[in-house]
Amino acid sequence: MRGKGDRSMIVMKFGGSSLESAAAVERVAGIVRAALARKPVVVVSAMGSTTQQLLAMGEAAAAGKRAGALDKLRALREMHEHEIGSLLPSSCHGEVGKILDCHFCEMTDLLGKISAAGEFLPEFVDDFSSYGERLSSRLIALAFRRFGMDSVHVDARCVILTDTRHMAATPLYSQTYARVRDKILPLASQDKIPIVGGFIGATESGVTTTLGRGGSDFSAAIIGAGIAAEEIQIWTDVDGMMTCDPKVVPEARRVKTISFAEAAELAYFGAKVLHPSTLLPAMEKNIPVVVLNSRRPDVAGTRIVAEAVPCSNVIKAISCKRGIYIVNIRSTRMLMSHGFLHRIFEIFSRAETAVDMLASSEVSVSLTIDNPARLAEICRALREFAEVSVEEDQAIVCIVGDNLRHTPGVAARAFGALQEINIRMISQGASLLNLGFVVTARDAERSVKLLHREFFRDADPAVFD
Ligand code: ADP
Ligand code: ASP
Ligand code: MG
Repeated sequence: MRGKGDRSMIVMKFGGSSLESAAAVERVAGIVRAALARKPVVVVSAMGSTTQQLLAMGEAAAAGKRAGALDKLRALREMHEHEIGSLLPSSCHGEVGKILDCHFCEMTDLLGKISAAGEFLPEFVDDFSSYGERLSSRLIALAFRRFGMDSVHVDARCVILTDTRHMAATPLYSQTYARVRDKILPLASQDKIPIVGGFIGATESGVTTTLGRGGSDFSAAIIGAGIAAEEIQIWTDVDGMMTCDPKVVPEARRVKTISFAEAAELAYFGAKVLHPSTLLPAMEKNIPVVVLNSRRPDVAGTRIVAEAVPCSNVIKAISCKRGIYIVNIRSTRMLMSHGFLHRIFEIFSRAETAVDMLASSEVSVSLTIDNPARLAEICRALREFAEVSVEEDQAIVCIVGDNLRHTPGVAARAFGALQEINIRMISQGASLLNLGFVVTARDAERSVKLLHREFFRDADPAVFD
């Protein structure tokens, strides 16, 4: 009999890049089948680039291009029909058609409403973009059954209860954990495989919300924490967490083991392989998170654990977050009077806009944000007592590792490596785990390459592959 959870269960999350085609879904089914003894709960993203496409359709409909959006919607239906249909015998095609008819009919209606509103409002964004995971979870459950696996679709909106903050909702943890246990544990105890769509949730009144782009990783961690899983696996298209984005530096190395604290900094500062909030529920319940490659399932991936990981390299990895804005605030009184910072932070807090990095001098403060949605309102409020200027198209490049806190000379090495780059801001976080630089976006890739060359010329074989 299971109690509050079962350490013998695991969560397996598959990203869009692991579910882009019939062959990919078949590969994923094989990975899940091989793990049946560990009682997997499967969390799936939308297939391939579905979410991106849905967002583009919503934008187009809002901009008066509804006909074009409807054409794209038809193509998206065909993709789902073709990829999933090719996995199933023709006797199942009717069932697939029914699922597609029902969802695509609702999506067509919704595009009509978006078009009539002339604005892709946040509640529309969440409702419309949720269809990617609503479809994939149903269709993949169907495909798995066809492969002889006893899978059951679970609607994530009945499980993940969130606040009302559209496009970046936060789960209401205790109610969500109770629902996770109620809905998922009984299925697992009957040896069924629950298949849940990531990314999406619902408010207490049943309005669909999303956890933000890339949010399926976070869904997996929430579900893992709810069932007290033994492990949360994030299956993606690279070999694990790497020393930096392998799309930027192809010779990036796999990090075999990394601490929660280090991986959380990397995720927060742009390592797209994990949604920034993924590690919070896992850390709280001390559940290891393992990042694995669905195309190379035999590679051991990256294990993210509570303990510090000894390493002879001074850093474990480099992250890069683009789309950053620097806000420069200069006191009109030419004096950093007390209460100045307080007023500034009150304005950002009221606008629910998180500040990532901060640097100050006697008369001015520079800080960075990654969400410009309420920037105009913030600037208006700041200009009541300060001069304000904004610089767009910036990036934060961070070097991250436990050893930063007690290794002298790291900053000198980093500055040496970046000597040809114009560094706009520097910050060593209070955690002492990261050293961050703001550079203009066009210097970001070069900065990552230079830092990678400097810090990973030799890589500790105990930690890096
Ligand atoms: P998924 O579809 O599985 O959620 P994502 O595209 O969200 O996959 O995340 C995987 C991508 O993250 C990789 O293809 C890689 O380009 C990028 N990435 C950025 N930084 C890192 C890093 N440090 N380690 C591994 N991947 C990274
Ligand atoms: N499908 C969503 C996105 O593309 C969530 C995810 O893939 O994690 O953002
Ligand atoms: Mg992702």
